[in-house]
Amino acid sequence: MAYGPSHSSRQGELRPASLPGRRCGTQYTLYASVHEHFYFVLTHFAIDAMPTTDALEIINRDHPRGPFRAAIFDFDGTLSLLRRNWQGVMIPMMVDILAATGTNETRDDLHACVDEFVMRLNGKQTIYQMIQLAGEVTKRHGAALEPLVYKHRYHDLLWEQVGGRVESVRSGRVDADMLTVPGSRSLLEWLHGQCLTLYLASGTDITYVRDEVAVLGLDHFFGERIYGAIDDYKNFSKAMIIEQMIRDAGFSGSEIVGFGDGYVEIEEIKKVGGLAIGVASDEEAREGINDWKRNRLIQAGADIIIGDYRELDSLQSLIPLA
Ligand SMILES: [Mg+2]
Repeated sequence: MAYGPSHSSRQGELRPASLPGRRCGTQYTLYASVHEHFYFVLTHFAIDAMPTTDALEIINRDHPRGPFRAAIFDFDGTLSLLRRNWQGVMIPMMVDILAATGTNETRDDLHACVDEFVMRLNGKQTIYQMIQLAGEVTKRHGAALEPLVYKHRYHDLLWEQVGGRVESVRSGRVDADMLTVPGSRSLLEWLHGQCLTLYLASGTDITYVRDEVAVLGLDHFFGERIYGAIDDYKNFSKAMIIEQMIRDAGFSGSEIVGFGDGYVEIEEIKKVGGLAIGVASDEEAREGINDWKRNRLIQAGADIIIGDYRELDSLQSLIPLA
């Protein structure tokens, strides 16, 4: 894929090997900081010249340009593919439940209805999709179950697929990188090596998130900063984690870069003035762009759209670091 002049060579010129590497918590020499400033200024202008390509699309040319000190990642569909096809389990289950109310709507009508709210709520905790389902059952004069009951039913169905994948990686039969969005590990290594503080926030239950991050061998990048859905669902949201990053960790919104394949995380990052990278990952093919996700992510306010992280040089140019 062509982006004009090679970014790696541009970086190579500006960051010669003789320059000291970034070490967390150490001071820079004047030489290094002047170099970094020079690098930032050139990069800033280089970004404007960067064309949109199939793999990296700049939606908002006035997107935040950092320098960035922290990053927040969604998990499923953004880093992990362990739960790929969750939509293919959740949506038919909900259509079956709504059809059982005796409504006159066709299955296509129900599918369209379910698809809209499931994907609109994608990124929030799963319970919110189930709360909406219960509401839709009631609206059709059915006897709705507790949202938590629906959530357990969904999880049991999903686990028939996900459980096998998790065990295949845990046992070493399948390489962890085959069940991550391509380039995830290299991106995280780079960000971590450059001392960015990394957060992971998922709408999946925290117990599973912690286990699956570890199974994929990505846990050490995040340390304690791994968050997921909890039973007391009103006390967790991605907005709360971002608020915590600003209030407790002292980052400003414009110093945060967010990566996500869902509507919610993109909206929340934009609310605080951060850089929102929409990951329109094709979870089955592991390459290319999922057009449906792309459109939704653009509607949510994504500054940049990517399908995966294979073009790390290009991403590095877009994420100047502090
Ligand atoms: Mg996701």
